[in-house]
Amino acid sequence: MSTLESIVIIGAGHTGGRAAEALRGAGFAGRVVLVGEESHLPYERPPLSKELLAGTMELEKVTLNPESYYDENNIQLLLGISAQEIELGLGRVRLSDDTDVAFDKLMIATGGRVRRLACPGADLHGVYYIRDINDTLLLRPELRDGVRVAVIGGGFIGLEVAATARRRGCHVTVIELADQVLARVADPAVGALVADIHHAEGVHIVTGASVERIEGDAEVAEVICTDGETLEVDVVVVGIGILPNQEIAAEAGIACGPKGTQGGIKVDEFGHTSAANVYAAGDVAFHYNPILKRHLRLESWGNAQNSAIAVARNMVLDPVAYAEVPWFWSDQFDLNLQVAGAPETWDRLVVRGDPAAKKGIVFYMTGDRVVGATAFNQGREMRFLKKLVETGAPVDDSALADEGKRLRDIAG
Ligand SMILES: Cc1cc2nc3c(=O)[nH]c(=O)nc-3n(C[C@H](O)[C@H](O)[C@H](O)COP(=O)(O)OP(=O)(O)OC[C@H]3O[C@@H](n4cnc5c(N)ncnc54)[C@H](O)[C@@H]3O)c2cc1C
Repeated sequence: MSTLESIVIIGAGHTGGRAAEALRGAGFAGRVVLVGEESHLPYERPPLSKELLAGTMELEKVTLNPESYYDENNIQLLLGISAQEIELGLGRVRLSDDTDVAFDKLMIATGGRVRRLACPGADLHGVYYIRDINDTLLLRPELRDGVRVAVIGGGFIGLEVAATARRRGCHVTVIELADQVLARVADPAVGALVADIHHAEGVHIVTGASVERIEGDAEVAEVICTDGETLEVDVVVVGIGILPNQEIAAEAGIACGPKGTQGGIKVDEFGHTSAANVYAAGDVAFHYNPILKRHLRLESWGNAQNSAIAVARNMVLDPVAYAEVPWFWSDQFDLNLQVAGAPETWDRLVVRGDPAAKKGIVFYMTGDRVVGATAFNQGREMRFLKKLVETGAPVDDSALADEGKRLRDIAG
């Protein structure tokens, strides 16, 4: 590309920020404009439900780069401004401040927004969500010793908030609609292991129930569950998933996946959308993964980081497929959970070590192949777990279960 060309990135989150960096890293010398509706510099979200919420991390630590980085690298940051419309034919994006910005190539990195609770009382004071820095800073002072917290949703975010709140001395109840926690990503047996770790820390978990209504006189006071249980609460935190911010693409006629949590902007393995010169990456991208041989949308730090870099490079260099085994981690109490793969089905589990004692691995097997794995405080094995999923090499259950056999050797 000539140095005169202009690349616009919509969304200045983790993906947008890393993509801008990667464009410069790849030698692109043209104009780079990063448009973000939040007023914060691009930042990483994992600490929002962990260290930042616990108060053990400084706010500055979550940003990708200091402000000076963007000046020094001639990256134009338009913060507190949202993109309103993509005018594909004109090659420009209309912005909320009534200006527009022209592009030769465009990356959409708009991530997702929280799904909101729809029951009566959901708008009472004391109902919180966690997606951005402001959410965390609002909730943090509420999580004090003795405060009664109901967490709606037993996914990763809900469980992380539960752990953080418990560590701050709160009385915590998690309410999960499915019959297990981590229902979207884990086998019931793995969900049960994680739930037991929470029980041991004093978290009360209600499964198979949702919230019928929240009652209170301006402030939340009670959560009434569909199973009839009534909880007296001071704070409600909702973590029931996100919806991809795909509308700006859909309205421009760019192909998207199905509506709802599974949707997203459809891209190929290079991050290219159905529109010429328009790309998408990160949480919003419903991308083709050549290892899994299907489209999927991921909500993970690793995907934000690596898809941003891969797709940004593809915008300015010879395209190389973004092909990685999905990877996610979570910290809850003294448990570091890491997940490799995103299996939709499996026929059995193989256990190595003792996950119940917070040191072990659960393998998800299909025939003689590992299709996924959840590691309990075994982060250093992730490389080999990813490799086993990626190669699909045949392996023996007994070898996987045998701690005397190194995963490095099994993975080859
Ligand atoms: C609380 C929390 C904890 C997490 N913990 C972990 C973890 O432990 N491990 C892990 O692997 N992953 C974790 N994740 C997931 C990970 O942080 C996300 O996958 C990642 O942030 C996705 O980055 P993104 O930039 O694609 O999307 P986002 O982070 O959603 O950023 C998108 C940005 O685009 C902006 N935007 C949207 N529309 C427009 C528009 N029209 N114009 C301008 N700007 C727009 C949004 O305001 C936002 O700032 C966590 C996420 C959260 C919320």
